Parts: sequence; C-alpha cells; structure tokens
Amino acid sequence: MFLDADALRHSAEVFGVFLDETALARLDTYAAFLAEYNQKVNLTAITDPAGIAVKHFEDSLALLRFLELPQGCRMADVGTGAGFPGVVLLIARPDLQLTLMDSTKKKLVFLQQLLQKLDLSAAVLHTRAEEAGQNPSYREQFDVVTARAVAELRVLAEYCLPLVKTGGQFAAMKATLIADERKNAAHALSVLGAKVEAQQDYALSNGDGRSLLLVKKVSQTSPKYPRSSALIAKKPL
Ligand code: SAM
Repeated sequence: MFLDADALRHSAEVFGVFLDETALARLDTYAAFLAEYNQKVNLTAITDPAGIAVKHFEDSLALLRFLELPQGCRMADVGTGAGFPGVVLLIARPDLQLTLMDSTKKKLVFLQQLLQKLDLSAAVLHTRAEEAGQNPSYREQFDVVTARAVAELRVLAEYCLPLVKTGGQFAAMKATLIADERKNAAHALSVLGAKVEAQQDYALSNGDGRSLLLVKKVSQTSPKYPRSSALIAKKPL
C-alpha cells in the first residue's frame, strides 16, 4: 500500500465517513497515481503519502460530515484540479452523478486517466465555470456545487451559483474564511439568489484549520449572471 490505510480509515471516521475496502483500495490507487503523474506534470505541491491522505483526502471527505448528499444527486465540482474534493467524494459515494470542471486542460487529461484506473465514471468538462453557467446543459442543473481553493468568495459565488438548481446548495471550501471575505460576498450572494446557511470551521488530524461555507440557492439567478470572465475579474459583484 502507498497510503497508511488504518490512519486514513480512522481520520475519515472522525468525520463520520466509513470507508470500505473498495474505497480504501481506490484511494490508495489515486494517491500513488497522483504522486507518479506529478513527476511529469505539475498538479499539486503535496505528493507525500501522509500529505495526500490528510490535506487532500481527509479534507475532501470532511464535507460529508456537514453536507447531506441525497442518493444519486447531481453534483458539480468547480475548479476540481487533480480531483479535490470531487473524485474523493465519488470514491466514498459512487452513487453521485458527478461533473468535474476545470479550465486547465492538463488537469482533465489526468482526471480521465484516473477515473479509468479507478473504474468510476464522471463527466469531465474542460470549461470555465462562468461559461458553463450560461450553457443550458449546465445552468441550474446541479443539486450541489462544490469548490475548494478556487477564488475569493464573491467571485466564486458568480462562478458557481448559476449552476445550482433553486433549492440546491453551494459548498465553498477554504483554508480559512475570514469575516471580511464573507462580508464582501454578501451582496453577490443576494444578487445571485442565495443565502448563507452555515459556516463550519474544523480541524484536520494534523491540526490544520479549514472552513466550509454552506450556501442555499433560494431563487433563480438572473440571466445576466454569470457575466464574462473579464467583467467578473474587473468588477466583482
Ligand atoms: N480544487 C482543487 C484542490 O482543492 O486541490 C484545485 C484547486 S487549484 C488552487 C484551483 C483550480 O481551479 C485550478 O485547477 C484552476 O485551473 C481552476 N479554476 C480557476 N478558475 C476557474 C474557473 N473560472 N472555471 C473553472 N476552473 C477554474
């Protein structure tokens, strides 16, 4: 085994997630493939087995403690990078109908090979989230949209909320969410038809702090949003 399976099983249990033998074997394959692939193509700065287990896998699994995902629900992971949290959640919950989105092609090439190795299926989309948000195939189609370490909250909200169905949820995962970032995003959330449900601050098994902001989509997003990438960057909501 590449990973310490007992340590990973235990740290997942702390977040109420029970990993069976298939899930543990898939996580091991994932970690070994990520470390190997990263020698040729830079995907992540964290490549040691303990770092991958805690900072990528445990952190992704922690979401399951705070977010209820109905059986077979439609989920999109925006700016998924090397698959966090999306692919880890799919390993724990293979019933999810998952779409992985990223604007960087090399990440998607990795994800396609990874999913094949894991014998799991998900849609893999090379797109900017704000372009998907204006495409009827994706706009307001997802029960849940996740994003970890992608952008400042008010910008991230415009990327992600147009993809969420009314009544669905958006989960923003951050290393730390400071009050100022939340305050700056209040206008964007309201304009996009959403409101904050809860902020969950938690610690990983190595002591690192993390924040999760759970946002509920309460009404349809105006067709004006998302705006173009240039406008979002120049004039964030
Ligand atoms: N979520 C992964 C994680 O936690 O390890 C990757 C985080 S990485 C810092 C940010 C990722 O978001 C990159 O892979 C980048 O290509 C992607 N990204 C940034 N802006 C995006 C956008 N507007 N639409 C889609 N992907 C985006």
